[in-house]
Amino acid sequence: MDRDHVRSLTRISRSLWGDGDRSVEISENTLTSVSLLHLSDDLTIERASKVMIERAEKNPPKLLKLNHPFFRLAPIERFLLTALHLEKWSHTKIARALGIEKNLIEPWAWATRMKYCFQELEANIHYPHGPAHLGPVCPEYNPSAPWTQRLLDDELGKRERMFMQNHLMACDRCRKALEHTKTMFFKIEALIPVKDTSPEIEAATDRIMHTWEEGVATFRPMTITTKQSLVRFFGKPKIQLILSGLTVFIFYWFTKSTR
Ligand SMILES: [Zn+2]
Repeated sequence: MDRDHVRSLTRISRSLWGDGDRSVEISENTLTSVSLLHLSDDLTIERASKVMIERAEKNPPKLLKLNHPFFRLAPIERFLLTALHLEKWSHTKIARALGIEKNLIEPWAWATRMKYCFQELEANIHYPHGPAHLGPVCPEYNPSAPWTQRLLDDELGKRERMFMQNHLMACDRCRKALEHTKTMFFKIEALIPVKDTSPEIEAATDRIMHTWEEGVATFRPMTITTKQSLVRFFGKPKIQLILSGLTVFIFYWFTKSTR
């Protein structure tokens, strides 16, 4: 398991439980138990995320709601925004993590973004649609899952991207919609209270990695290399004490016998 994967899990658990020991503790337990399934690193983090969301839904931390509007969203909505904006997970990856159909992600992501921006943050920005005075309703623009969101989430295929680039030149409403969607997108990104990287995130990642390594070593001794196990063995304080005692004894014995 590399550090980037564990850092993702650190951020996801913070979006579910907020800062502090509780989110680290839950990540540690979850990661250690999910590792027993012997999945790839990607799948391990996806599965662990799902387990943590279910725990947070069942037993939500109550005080969090007072801290930041973000925590008024449901745990699964906080996960969605974190996965999209901080982890840059694709819609396919998010759907796989949650065990749902991929085509559900687009309208859900749009509804959650609108809810966070206009209901929870009460942001004073333009609604992310093209205004009516710019012309008739555009057939390319689906108001519950617009292409502008797909563009910003990097979900447009090569062909669709080219098509939309050409379309933009001719469609005033879509140009305005894109401008307003961008404003909403970056507003949300700036107001997710979990930091991308910070000393706290790194320290929490260290703790989770350490516990995970210990857990893996207990359950799967073959997965650590000889070097790692030697380092771990000689790193133990008792072993170091015995070794230094032995060194002194050998030195003493050697100098005595060569006299
Ligand atoms: Zn258009």
